[in-house]
Parts: sequence; structure tokens; C-alpha cells
Amino acid sequence: MTKPASPATPEEHKASNFLRQIIEADLDKGTYASRRWAGSPGDAAHHANGAPDPAKIRTRFPPEPNGYLHVGHAKSICINFGLARDYGGVCHLRFDDTNPEKEDTEYVNAIIDAVKWLGFSWSQTGNDAPYQASDYFDFMYRAAEHLIEAGHAYVDEQTPEEMRNNRGDFGKPGINSPFRNRTPSDNLHRFREMRDGKLADGAAVLRAKIDMASPNINMRDPAIYRIRRATHHHTGDTWCIYPMYTFAHPIEDALEQITHSICTLEFEDQRPFYDWLMDRLIEGGLLASPPPKQYEFARLNLTYVVTSKRKLAQLVSEGHVSGWDDPRMPTIVGLRRRGYTPESLRLFADRIGVTKSDSWIDYSTLEGCLREDLELKAHRAMAVLDPLKLVLTNWDEAFGAGHSEPCTLPALPHSPEGQPEPAARQFTMGKEVWIERDDFAEVPPKGYKRLSPPVTSADGSVTPGSIVRLKAGYIVQCTGCLKNSDGRVTEVHASVFPETKSGSAGADSVKAKGVITWVGVADGLQAEVRLYDRLFSEAHPDAGGRDFLSVLNPHSLTTMTAYVEPSLAQSKADDKFQFERLGYFVADRAEHRAGHLVFNRAVGLKDSWGK
Ligand code: ATP
Ligand code: MG
Repeated sequence: MTKPASPATPEEHKASNFLRQIIEADLDKGTYASRRWAGSPGDAAHHANGAPDPAKIRTRFPPEPNGYLHVGHAKSICINFGLARDYGGVCHLRFDDTNPEKEDTEYVNAIIDAVKWLGFSWSQTGNDAPYQASDYFDFMYRAAEHLIEAGHAYVDEQTPEEMRNNRGDFGKPGINSPFRNRTPSDNLHRFREMRDGKLADGAAVLRAKIDMASPNINMRDPAIYRIRRATHHHTGDTWCIYPMYTFAHPIEDALEQITHSICTLEFEDQRPFYDWLMDRLIEGGLLASPPPKQYEFARLNLTYVVTSKRKLAQLVSEGHVSGWDDPRMPTIVGLRRRGYTPESLRLFADRIGVTKSDSWIDYSTLEGCLREDLELKAHRAMAVLDPLKLVLTNWDEAFGAGHSEPCTLPALPHSPEGQPEPAARQFTMGKEVWIERDDFAEVPPKGYKRLSPPVTSADGSVTPGSIVRLKAGYIVQCTGCLKNSDGRVTEVHASVFPETKSGSAGADSVKAKGVITWVGVADGLQAEVRLYDRLFSEAHPDAGGRDFLSVLNPHSLTTMTAYVEPSLAQSKADDKFQFERLGYFVADRAEHRAGHLVFNRAVGLKDSWGK
């Protein structure tokens, strides 16, 4: 039984856009109110027996299963599923698998996962399995025979080169094919020979008979069927002829009773053929009226990435990244592994909106959406990415040898309203702690608020070492450092003020310049931390036909051996954290496990690119 999705609650109200206006106008006018839906896709006769369609609109997301989905597809998914949700409709997930080559069930499964992970479902279609265009091959074939019989299609046996030459160009009308005036019965006979494997691949095509002089080249008798001996991942060797995309796609929409067929702008020139085909097949009684209508929006262009499946596949196959789910990839699996949440991607889709003209969205917009989502959710933790040992030389004297001081901090600074506060983090401070290498400076720059040693001037006067708080622990004063023979600092020394424990009565008895984060040497855990940067060093990697591989950012991955606080021992793959002062990190879904901690930096705390 088909149940439309419940409409959005008022607080989810989205900014209007031209697609919403079109849908609202159609709902007002009742354009699609008389449609029937038989519970499954089908022709006019099939739907005529169905009940009035409970779905007020039907949209679809129609990927070709020839690669992994990317952030541009996420935009399309959010638009199509989002509109259906908001207007009491349903959105179909449909595999546009009419091209037998390159398609694979690995991609089919990955696409299903991606749509579900983004938070959408097609169960309201009454169908657990998504739709697939290859199920409609029989109907497409019937539609082709109908066009032939009605005098609207012919088998053309010109060579591909002749066909190309005779198509004309923008200034020049095309030339009719010598095969154009074959009789319907000749055409039918020949088309069946194509189907029955009597002609070689490429020896003939079926063309719609429209107008070789049309100013729109897509209307100059477009090819609608071709011969291709290829095993299809779903229909096997049943067919040796396959429909062309431009013919198949409108039919898929119509059989599924789609109302608003939303695609990217490059299909604008195909719209007249879409409408022409609908009209011919409705005239012939094959398809139900009113037909679906196509609307185009601007595709997502995001700086510092490429979003062509072919180019993404090349990055993978040539080993420039570790796979489709490499955290630097703009694929949905890559973004997920990087730490992106479904909420952050939906927020991104809402924020960039829907327009009719092409533009570029800055990568920082995407990052901003993730930051905004994680700010409220990600538990805090302390980590030291570039560890330098700090020894508190008077610790044993102050507290007794081996003393370890329990410390605590909240997991979230403010829990979201109505949610229980998560358990506080526990860790200990001892004589030795790890600090960030750049939290110590022998010669501090002006305004430095971290650790620096005492300095004796030429006149013998001494500037004391700096005083800072180790967050949630004690205030310490820097007393010096050790260096190796290369002059590299190997250890920093400080003395602790024993009465200054954070939260205690004496916490403010000494004035600290700043607060630094740290991890105890005794209870800190080693972790592999991967810092990711943009995959390309140019905002428009493939602009103007440039080889995008020539602008790969050589520093897009830095791996560190870090220390993290002990609360992270329990962290699970996909858990997100804010490492204080360092950014948002996610436990790597492929490699993180107990005893082998691996964190990916999802995004910094603030936009630091180019600064
Ligand atoms: P690619 O060019 O990367 O191979 P595609 O358009 O061929 O992508 P499809 O599988 O045909 O990929 O795409 C499915 C749907 O996603 C289509 O409706 C298409 O318009 C939409 N889509 C693809 N890329 C983008 C993008 N960058 N922005 C918005 N929508 C997109
Ligand atoms: Mg495509």
C-alpha cells in the first residue's frame, strides 16, 4: 500500500525556490490531482485500474550505477527526496541502468547505502527494492514499435560518420537520411532484425522522425535505439539493442507516474524531445496523461574538488587516493569517513539552495555546515598531536612520589536541551605530561601566552619563566628545557604550584597567562591521527581543460603519532570528537578499533584555509 510521506512540520520550513513555486502552483491548480497509481510502474492501461494516487507529487533520483555518488548527487538527493517529503509526495530511487557497459551491482549497493545514510527512504513507494530502468526494456521496445507504426521513427543505416556529417550544426540545417522515407512496415521488419541480432553492432540505429532542420540539434531525428552486444548486469544477454538515454529517461518517468522530473541544466536542450515523446506516446494510448514535466536546476560546483565520476574513478584507479572512501574524496562514502554527518550534508543542501544559473560554491561553505552540526554534538577530548614531554620537576616533593591527581571535564560544554548530560571525562595528571610542541617557545613571539623559559639579560636581570594552567589541572611555571645535539628541544621543565588545582579554593592564587591542553604520560593513549587538507591546490582543478592531476595538493595528508586522553579508549568507529583547540575528529570507520586508535581530522575549529 502506498503511503505518502508526512508533510514537513512548520519549523522545518525551507526557503522558497523556483521548484517549490512550480510545485505549489501545480498543487493549487490540481494539475496532477486526477492521476491514478496502480501500486507499481506501468503503462496507461495499468494505471487506469489503479486508485487515485495518494502521493500528491512524485519525484525521482535516477543515478546511473556506474560509480560512487558524490556531493553533487547529495544535493540532488536532498532536493528530490526533500520536495517529496515537504509536499506529501514520494520520491523514487531509480537505477538508470539502460547502459549495459560500466554498470555494476557494487555501485548499486553503494548508492542504496548512501541514500539511506543521508536519511531518506523510498519505502513510501510501497516497494522495498528501488526501481530499475532495465525493468522497462519491454515497454521501451513496445514504445519504439509504436513510433515506427505511427510513422514517427525509422531505421537508419547510414554510417556513424555520415550521420554526423548530415546532422548539420548551429548555423546549418541537417540533411535528411536516404533511409528516412522507408515505410512503417519496412522499418518494423528491419527493427526486428536489429533486435534479433541480424545486424552488426553499429550497423543501424532507430531514429525518431522529427525535423532535420530544427534549430535544436537534439530534435534532428535523435537516435533512440542502438545495437550493442553487451551483457547487462541485470538482464544478461536478453537484449542486443538498448534504448538511448534520451528515449529511455522520459519513459521511465512516465511509467512511474513522476510529476516533476528534476535534472541538471545540461538537459535543458533535451526537454523538447522529452515533451515530444510524451505527446506521441499519450496520443498512442500507451502512457497515461498528464505526463511528467522536466525542470532543470544548476548542478553543484564545489571548489577544490572534482565531481565527475570519471575523474573520481581515475583518482582511485591510479592510486592518488586510497579508494572511493578516502577521506579526501568528495564522494558520500569519503565524506562520511572524513566525519561528515547526514545532518551536515542536508544543512549544506538547504544552505546552497536551488537556482537556475551555474555558480561555484566555496568548499568552506561545506566545512562550515559540518562545524555547525558537530559544535553541538561532538564530545570534547584532549589530544596532543605533536607531543613534547613536560616534566614537573617538583611534583614528587609537592605531592609524594608517584602521585597521580584525578582530573575531570564535561564531555559537552552545554548539552542540547532535553537531553541527559553525558558522563564527565576522567583523566589524571602526574609528574610527566605531553604538551604540543608549539606550546613551548624558547624565544617567545610577542604576546605568546604559553610556555617559555626564564631569560637572563645582558645586565644580569632575570625574566622569570611563563606561568600557564594545564587545563583542568594545576598551574605551572616553566623553568627550562633539554635539547639534543641538533638543538631540538626534547623535554620541557616546569614547577607546579601545588595549591592551584582547577576548581579548588586556591585555583586563582597564582595568575596564569594562558591555558594549554595536555595528556598525561601515565594514562594517555597513543593514536594515529590523520590530518587532511584539500586534495587539490587550485580552486578549480579541472578548469579550462587543465589536467586536474597536475594540481593535486602534495600535502593533503599528514599522519601523526599522537596522544589522546584515556576516555577515548572506549571510542568506536564513526564517533566524533572535538579535540580541544585542534578541531573536529572522527574515529576512522575503516581502521579504528580498541587498542588501535585512528582519528581523522574532519575540519578545523575555524576556517583557516588561505589565512
Ligand atoms: P557524473 O557526471 O559525475 O557521472 P552524472 O550526472 O552522470 O554524474 P548520474 O548518476 O546520472 O550521474 O546522476 C544522478 C542524478 O544526480 C542526476 O539527476 C544528476 O542530474 C544529478 N547530479 C549529478 N551530478 C550533480 C551535481 N554536481 N549537482 C547536482 N546534481 C547532480
Ligand atoms: Mg549522467
